[in-house]
Amino acid sequence: MHAEVIAIGDELTSGQRLDTNSRWMAAELGVLGVPVTFHTTVPDTLEAGVEAFRAAAARASLVVVTGGLGPTADDLTRDVLAAVAGVPLDLSTEALAAVEARFSRRGMPMPESNRRQAVFPRGSRIIPNPEGTAPGIDVDLPGGGGGSCRVFALPGVPAEMRVMWKASVEPAVLAMLPDRATIVQRRIKCFGAGESAVEAMLPDLVRRGRDPLVGITAHEATITLRIAARGRDEAECLAKMAPTEATIRECLGTIAYGVEDDEIEDAVLSSLAARGRTLATIESGTAGRVAALVAQAAARRDEAAEVFRGGIVVPTGLTDVRAAAAEVRRRHAAAVGIAVGDVRPAAEGRRAVDVAIADDAGTTVVEHVFGGGADLAPTRAAKSAINLVRLRMLEGGGR
Ligand code: ATP
Ligand code: MG
Repeated sequence: MHAEVIAIGDELTSGQRLDTNSRWMAAELGVLGVPVTFHTTVPDTLEAGVEAFRAAAARASLVVVTGGLGPTADDLTRDVLAAVAGVPLDLSTEALAAVEARFSRRGMPMPESNRRQAVFPRGSRIIPNPEGTAPGIDVDLPGGGGGSCRVFALPGVPAEMRVMWKASVEPAVLAMLPDRATIVQRRIKCFGAGESAVEAMLPDLVRRGRDPLVGITAHEATITLRIAARGRDEAECLAKMAPTEATIRECLGTIAYGVEDDEIEDAVLSSLAARGRTLATIESGTAGRVAALVAQAAARRDEAAEVFRGGIVVPTGLTDVRAAAAEVRRRHAAAVGIAVGDVRPAAEGRRAVDVAIADDAGTTVVEHVFGGGADLAPTRAAKSAINLVRLRMLEGGGR
């Protein structure tokens, strides 16, 4: 089985908005073991939509689509699907009640235009939308060679689309696979080396067709390794996954700091909290990002509420990070003080920043050099500074 992805919207074809939904859905399908062979983007017109769905349904047995399910006259996905299926649109009283209930919960009458969101091609199934008003549509279209093509149409709003995908589309796609496989995924989060360096540290794990599959992505200097194992049930998947995870951990050592949604600041807070240590910050080049990341992480982790003692932000000109780290540590009576200096240009278009870490064992200054452009520099510098605290804790420091 292979799949196609369709994105609908004038915003996308005109270049006003980047189509991130297609990328996300294609990556999810890849993890499920369903290759995506075609992406199509069409504007909000009936003709373009009909042409795109006819062509996709003739080629693939699964099509996933986002956009055009809203209440306005330019939201035509339901009309397109009905036209290609050759069926009329019927009002679903059940869906209408759900849309009305959503408005009445907010104390508003439902605008007449929202009735459109309760209309479905005859014979289709409704995909519930827990996050918004537009339900999705699960419908069979006539496919190539007398077969049929299953279509899952979801709203364009990325957050709604993802929730509906996980709740409804993914289980349905898994049930369509010949061996009714179960897929278990695990993400290992890494910091401290670039994407290609991390890949080079792993012995031929990141390759197509491997089972478990290992994928690698990078976002703001954080590297995510995603392991996906297929099996008859969860236990089989976990058993298949264990040796791969062990190999990754062995190869990456302290670069691997967490799993799933963990950010580097979550890892730092946990290790500080576990040792009963506290932290204070002073920063110029990162304009308060270190404090913001740490404070936000502390707010989502109860056990770390006491860890962050406070932070100071100064304009550019923090040159003596060594003295600043010791001073902020003393001022906030914290176990660990960190100071981040100005971000400055370095060789070959890269950037550099000095970070000092002070604790009972003394003060250490480290220069971090990184690429990635001026916009990303403060975020990278902040994460590098936070990571320095994590590494110090691993060394048993911070007394
Ligand atoms: P709504 O009920 O919100 O109108 P809809 O299904 O009609 O939902 P669209 O009107 O096509 O969806 O898009 C709603 C919003 O979702 C867009 O303004 C845009 O912000 C975002 N969006 C739509 N398609 C995509 C896409 N392919 N990638 C990323 N964002 C998208
Ligand atoms: Mg819309």
